[in-house]
Amino acid sequence: MLKDPKIFLEKCASIIGGGYVFSSPLDMEPFLVDWNKRFRGSALAVLRPANTSEVSRLVSLCAEYQIPIVPQGGNTSFCGGGIPSQDVSSVVMSLNRMNQIREIDSENNTITVDAGAILKNVQLAAHARDRLFPLSLAAEGSCTIGGNLATNAGGVHVLRYGNMRELTLGLEVVTPTGEVWNGLRGLRKDNTGYSLKDLYIGSEGTLGIITRATLKLFPLKSVQITSLIKVAHIEQVIQLFEIARAELDSSLTAFELICPKLIELAGIANPKLSIPMRLDSDWFVLLEYSGSESWSRGQELVEALIATCIERGLVSDAVIAKSISQAKHLWEIRELVPEAQAELGPNIKHDISLPISELVSFIKIAETQLKSLWPDIEILVFGHVGDGNLHYNIAASTRELSSQHETRRTQVSEIVHDLVYLRNGSMSAEHGIGQAKLEELPRRKSQVEMALMKSIKLALDPRNLMNPGKVLI
Ligand SMILES: Cc1cc2nc3c(=O)[nH]c(=O)nc-3n(C[C@H](O)[C@H](O)[C@H](O)COP(=O)(O)OP(=O)(O)OC[C@H]3O[C@@H](n4cnc5c(N)ncnc54)[C@H](O)[C@@H]3O)c2cc1C
Repeated sequence: MLKDPKIFLEKCASIIGGGYVFSSPLDMEPFLVDWNKRFRGSALAVLRPANTSEVSRLVSLCAEYQIPIVPQGGNTSFCGGGIPSQDVSSVVMSLNRMNQIREIDSENNTITVDAGAILKNVQLAAHARDRLFPLSLAAEGSCTIGGNLATNAGGVHVLRYGNMRELTLGLEVVTPTGEVWNGLRGLRKDNTGYSLKDLYIGSEGTLGIITRATLKLFPLKSVQITSLIKVAHIEQVIQLFEIARAELDSSLTAFELICPKLIELAGIANPKLSIPMRLDSDWFVLLEYSGSESWSRGQELVEALIATCIERGLVSDAVIAKSISQAKHLWEIRELVPEAQAELGPNIKHDISLPISELVSFIKIAETQLKSLWPDIEILVFGHVGDGNLHYNIAASTRELSSQHETRRTQVSEIVHDLVYLRNGSMSAEHGIGQAKLEELPRRKSQVEMALMKSIKLALDPRNLMNPGKVLI
């Protein structure tokens, strides 16, 4: 740790201006605690550069003083990825002033944006030019493109458009020594050696700071039909998915699973949100169809799909949105789920991914095992079931204290993740490792894979100055 940080902080101020170097506890507070209030850290300062050149100069300065850097975007990470450790040795580098949309190339169908651009603003900029940027998640009003890239974010449209890695063509990155790599190429084909872009995406700020990105755009679909569908058993959810995928093909743009308790909680979190059907079934699916034909044709297709599934006994009831505002209403229920659940108190969260063929057996066996040990816990499941991604969360029973629930965190997660890995799944589908799953990662990946990851880290950041204590121990 620096004996006297004053000179270092003055040098930071000479690069970005004193008003953008936060070092008082009050100014730094929002940057030092995560969205779920599970992780809290300390820092020497929060630095807020305005452009790539300032990032580069700050990183060079930190390298000279050997000060670790924790990159941060919208601070919506679920695994403490953007929160520093407790030891006041590092700086948080917030990219939130670097938020410009730089260019939309309509012919190439690409958009180039600063890393601190808010995801929602990128979607809106694309929309204004009759294009779609399809990444969509409940935190889209706060999370940034840099954070989305660093975590390889997923969300509700991965089923059709892929996650952030698949949506990205080029990056600009400041390396741990402060050099700028300009890889902002809008190419769909580029086989010129190792794909550094793919290495930086998902690296959670441990290999460098992403400062800009060139992203893919898609044609805007004129029609979106959204339906909330009631299903009795998890087997039927999977059968419904198979039929929907076959009938709607690439027009099936979302297939989200929600358990009834979470819909009820969303209704409590926002009492203005009316729930359009009785919550008297084990599962609900939010299905979205996107197409380019007329609204009535889209409605016909979704109605026919649901009629077929009712006939086959897979679906007991469904609501199909009749207007854009009704569709928004249904999506609002889904988007409120993470927030509503956070209100419930401490949850033991899991962001798991499984082959779709293994979902049924996982859900059944996990419930049996967990309930045999703790009969009163509540298992709250939602997620992007069309991608095999479940947010499998365990809440304490209403009679228990949160501290009681907290003591079983490791044991619960061990059971859940063991079942996931037995089925060739992953313990992080889209949120990343951060500090939450740091210790577990070496137990879940092979020694070969861990050694390769460590070699890459050592080659790019030998002094471990980029987001230390995240991803790799
Ligand atoms: C309500 C809610 C719903 C969510 N739903 C989803 C979902 O559906 N799908 C999903 O994938 N995630 C979801 N998340 C998690 C979160 O929103 C994503 O991980 C998001 O991509 C993080 O972006 P951010 O800008 O907030 O990043 P931060 O939280 O600030 O940082 C996340 C990680 O990225 C690193 N980082 C940030 N910016 C940079 C940069 N410019 N260069 C290098 N590293 C950087 C940080 O160091 C950290 O490791 C949700 C979160 C909330 C609160």
